[in-house]
Amino acid sequence: MIFPVVSTHNFLKASGDNLTRSIKRSGSTFVVGVTGGIGSGKTTVCNLFHELFGIPIIDADIIAKDVVKKNQPALQAIVAEFGDSILTESGELDRPKVKKLVFSDPTRRKILERIVHPEVRKEMNVQISRVSASYCLLSVPLIAESTNKSMFDRILVVDCDEKIQMERVISRDKLANETVVAIMNTQASRKDRLAIADDIIVNNGPTSQLNDQVQSLHETYQALPTADN
Ligand code: ATP
Repeated sequence: MIFPVVSTHNFLKASGDNLTRSIKRSGSTFVVGVTGGIGSGKTTVCNLFHELFGIPIIDADIIAKDVVKKNQPALQAIVAEFGDSILTESGELDRPKVKKLVFSDPTRRKILERIVHPEVRKEMNVQISRVSASYCLLSVPLIAESTNKSMFDRILVVDCDEKIQMERVISRDKLANETVVAIMNTQASRKDRLAIADDIIVNNGPTSQLNDQVQSLHETYQALPTADN
């Protein structure tokens, strides 16, 4: 799934949209937000940056899972709100149950997001603050759905034709056609995603076609942070 606990459509929602993406914020790491629809190839692209150039990857999906692990404050807050029937016998968050609980109830969903999202943001900032490389990639599936993009200095959209996207997701996740369509319909349209892009990686071909694009962007990102120094 896109996000393990709950879709983070409002993940970074806050006041306003103060983009300063081409300019490095003084004293901070240059953060490239990587986004794209389900199965567009975000992980594949991030892994290439890491393998080819050792660029650190911060993955919002992983963080969202970690912050609700056993004994984490977010899990305790969720239990306080929804009761301990949302825990498995071993005390872990029962994800299918939570999903069911919030799926058709926007109020519950908002409560859950209010608990989880600040923890995710906090952890993302911690991880960003530890980066010593000239830039890092912050993989967040739903940047286009959020109004506040100020966390990112630049936005990289991984794009591919919807037909190819569907084929890859169906093959990877063994999902029915309609399920993939339903997930895609909850996400921003391809057009809206491309509209927020500073950079685009086209992932319609074989993975071998990604190397040159990654190499070229790596050179750009390395140059950018020092451009206004
Ligand atoms: P999600 O949104 O679900 O997290 P994602 O955007 O991270 O997905 P990937 O997991 O990188 O996408 O790719 C989706 C699937 O498509 C994976 O099985 C991956 O191996 C495959 N894939 C990605 N790019 C290519 C490509 N260029 N050629 C063939 N298969 C690809």
